[in-house]
Amino acid sequence: MATQESPSPRSYARSTEVFARARDLMPGGVNSPVRAYKAVGRDPVVVRQGKGCRVTDVDGNEYIDYVGSYGPLILGHCPAQVTVALSKAVAKGTSFGMPTEAENALAEMVIAAVPSIELVRFVNSGTEATMSAIRLARAATSRDLIIKCTGCYHGHSDSLLVQAGSGATTLGTPSSPGIPPSVTSHTILVPYNDLAATAQAFGSFPGKIAAILIEPIAGNMGCVPPQTGYLQGLRELCDRHGALLIFDEVMTGFRVAYGGAQQLYGIRPDLTCLGKIVGGGLPCAAYGGRQDLMRKMAPDGPVYQAGTLSGNPLAMAAGLAMLQSLKDSVAYQTLEQSSALLAEGLTQAAAKAKVPVSCQRVGSMICVFFSPKPIANYEQALSCDTKAFTAFFNTMLAHGVMLPPSQYETWFVSLAHDAQAIAQTIAAAAAAFQAAAKKH
Ligand SMILES: *Cc1c(COP(=O)(O)O)cnc(C)c1O
Repeated sequence: MATQESPSPRSYARSTEVFARARDLMPGGVNSPVRAYKAVGRDPVVVRQGKGCRVTDVDGNEYIDYVGSYGPLILGHCPAQVTVALSKAVAKGTSFGMPTEAENALAEMVIAAVPSIELVRFVNSGTEATMSAIRLARAATSRDLIIKCTGCYHGHSDSLLVQAGSGATTLGTPSSPGIPPSVTSHTILVPYNDLAATAQAFGSFPGKIAAILIEPIAGNMGCVPPQTGYLQGLRELCDRHGALLIFDEVMTGFRVAYGGAQQLYGIRPDLTCLGKIVGGGLPCAAYGGRQDLMRKMAPDGPVYQAGTLSGNPLAMAAGLAMLQSLKDSVAYQTLEQSSALLAEGLTQAAAKAKVPVSCQRVGSMICVFFSPKPIANYEQALSCDTKAFTAFFNTMLAHGVMLPPSQYETWFVSLAHDAQAIAQTIAAAAAAFQAAAKKH
């Protein structure tokens, strides 16, 4: 079923009403900034429910969803495996503040999946995972400085919210008021995919750099893959200078391969941060790595980090069901095939409408940059034609395709996106690229 050229106009009356009320109750009407749709010049649609690859808004409009809760929903909405596991778990109690067997079960799966993780600690968000990992890196090396890349997002903790891509980019607040310069002065910024600049940073601060924290595939400035040799080069720089290599795989973990980007590229980081998929759609994240490092965490060691809801039984149950569905399955081949089909269709539709784009993808992480040249770093990403993206986004929405509302977000293909959904998306894109061409 192909989408017709001009879809019948949709009503957003109820969404408008609900969001107006939300604005009275919450800053910007949302609990996370990018959801406010400011970058695409309209109010958000308010979602009622999801099933498979589709979501329905409160006015009853249906969309093929590529937001996927910004990454966790690799099985689509409401996969039976996860919802059944959750209803069983919820009947036994929602939180204890005491050890449970479910924590062992998920820890075993994570450690088996990601060979560089010898011990793991569960937390509640990716932000907590990266914040804790750098605390550990600083303690283990007795050094203060962290290298991060411009445009990489590692959550909103003080020392990492510097030129952070994603929502921060979209809203033009690369860093935030309320963060003392003394905190971010310990964070050194280098461009992504730039080994020379990273080597130079080590040269400028000899013996002072605790760690490089990196998204092994950048997914928060759009989708920007690492260039050949880049991650290996970072590994060698860290080894030469006694610094730790921390992979922030909150987005890429269990997404681009069961063992994450480190499996895909064959690099062994010292510490890894996980989130999103590991919690099966519930609030859950983790960090882990070398045994000698992880044993420094309290109560084995002196580095403090804690959490009332950490290892929450519902999150453990959802994560466990999710990982069981992905392990030993053809999941990643299926995702590769449908995502490749989508990328090809988008590229052809853009060419036909004569819109210069760079469609970038690793597995089921994909994005369309409105740029004639491939994007390798944040500075290049900022040169994209965001007006063209806005026209594209709004036309896709009118055709029933829900994209993340910013040029600087990655789209997520799930196992629920079947051939029909992909074909419908490509048909919608033909019209959306024509709309973008007019704005270009
Ligand atoms: C989403 C994300 C985070 C932050 O995770 P939250 O759960 O939103 O705090 C950190 N790092 C990366 C790479 C992410 O994609």
